[in-house]
Amino acid sequence: MGSSTKYIFITGGVTSSLGKGIIAASLGRLLLARGFSVTIQKFDPYLNIDPGTLNPYEHGECYVTDDGAETDLDLGHYERFLNVTTSQSNNITTGRIYNNVITKERKGEFLGKTVQVIPHITDEIKTNFYKLGEEGKYDVVITEIGGCVGDIESLPFIEAVRQARWDLGPSNFLVIHLTLIPYLSAAKELKTKPTQHSVKQLLEAGIQPDILVCRTEHHLPADVKKKLALFCNVQLNNVIEAMDAESIYDVPLLMKKEKLDERVMTKLKLTSKSNTDLENWKDFLGKLKNPTQEVTIGLIGKYVSLPDSYKSIIESFTHAGAAVECKVHLKLISSEEIHMDNFESKLNELDGILVAPGFGERGFEGKIETVRYARENKIPFFGICLGMQVAVIEFARNVLHLETANSTEMDPKTVHPVIGLMENQKKIVQMGGTMRLGSYACDLKKGSKAAHAYGRTKIQERHRHRYEFNNEYLKQVEDAGLIATGKNPDTGLVEIMELKNHPWFVGVQFHPEYKSTALNPQPLFVKFIQAAIDNKKK
Ligand code: GLN
Repeated sequence: MGSSTKYIFITGGVTSSLGKGIIAASLGRLLLARGFSVTIQKFDPYLNIDPGTLNPYEHGECYVTDDGAETDLDLGHYERFLNVTTSQSNNITTGRIYNNVITKERKGEFLGKTVQVIPHITDEIKTNFYKLGEEGKYDVVITEIGGCVGDIESLPFIEAVRQARWDLGPSNFLVIHLTLIPYLSAAKELKTKPTQHSVKQLLEAGIQPDILVCRTEHHLPADVKKKLALFCNVQLNNVIEAMDAESIYDVPLLMKKEKLDERVMTKLKLTSKSNTDLENWKDFLGKLKNPTQEVTIGLIGKYVSLPDSYKSIIESFTHAGAAVECKVHLKLISSEEIHMDNFESKLNELDGILVAPGFGERGFEGKIETVRYARENKIPFFGICLGMQVAVIEFARNVLHLETANSTEMDPKTVHPVIGLMENQKKIVQMGGTMRLGSYACDLKKGSKAAHAYGRTKIQERHRHRYEFNNEYLKQVEDAGLIATGKNPDTGLVEIMELKNHPWFVGVQFHPEYKSTALNPQPLFVKFIQAAIDNKKK
């Protein structure tokens, strides 16, 4: 562990979905504003090596980092709030921990010892707790422990946190417990008992939380705070109220008002390195809350019943909308419900259309119809990953009249594979971690909409896909007006497609949404919203 690095652990109690990720990211933002370098990591208790193989309905979107790690969506919050990049080291699962330990065992590294949860699994967890701190880049490492205290599967993580206190020493170690104070409307009372119980569970595991962050729908009266302090064995001013907020981006300021950063700094014996500067954050919030115009944008995909499946895209619209002071009403529409005979009624109220990333055949034809509608009616169109592939297929079918054009993902035997597997993907049989992942360079064509948006011609964006535009069709497609305006400089793979004679029709093979942050909105989203505003005015 870095000798001067401070470690903050965040556990959760009473129920899941209390927003540990948002609290971690908000605290990180506040500490950054005081001049500290901060990173956040997430430890997930499930057995998958990473979330790459999970259906989005399980834990929401799979977030991808620059170094190509497929991670939990909370890492997206960390990047969006902190404006710093994360990596594979920022997301560790139980599966990865066991995989590491078992690999070492097979190599004989334990020298004949019996391999056990304690100490071998807990040692491996701690090695990973300290890894980022050891890089010497961070004053503070915040570690979010996924799941709920008391879950069988998170026990080794909790035990490792207990041990970490002794590795680190009390002034380098702090535990924040995020909990829920339910309100019983019949009794008109806030109840502390579930929190008492969950803290008791932590105490049983040998962990005394230093700070309680209490999610609540009503302000916590002084007597409730006192009761929590008394029964949970924490200082009264370390009982922090976390009222439900209108927007997740309000939480840093709410936590500042509650002095969460000060309480953390006191315990960790930290003094501010610079003056608290949250001006740019307040600026962003000001614009977010005072839009001067509004547009309706349709997000067409197949996982629409769980909006978390499109977390980064939804947040990108928040950032870009704020940048142009425009309220974006995002309508999530299932592509399975769009057919030849109803697309008009499904799509005609939209000022802009986004076809989402995705996998597999379900809802595919609805996406084709959607693109056709956007192309023919000159509605601003943004296609992301599968969305770009659909745009190419629609164009091949309806403009080039290659009626059977398809992606080999949907029809392996298609006569016109306008989207196909990369050569080096053809022999891969394993699913996990084998897509084209992470950051790749892209050169933009001068004068293109993309180059105009970015304000430069060399960019880097993140990827997560197997299939590619088939360059054998490039000439034919370009001659008919769909132009490759972004290409990978090393491989020639097509990264961006733009339609001529259309106000704004851009498909990207990469995922621009992963790099959008509150303070750095993604330029393609900004221009897409702008195009939707112009379209609405017409
Ligand atoms: N299924 C497509 C592919 O693998 C698109 C993936 C995506 O949209 N992320 O290439």
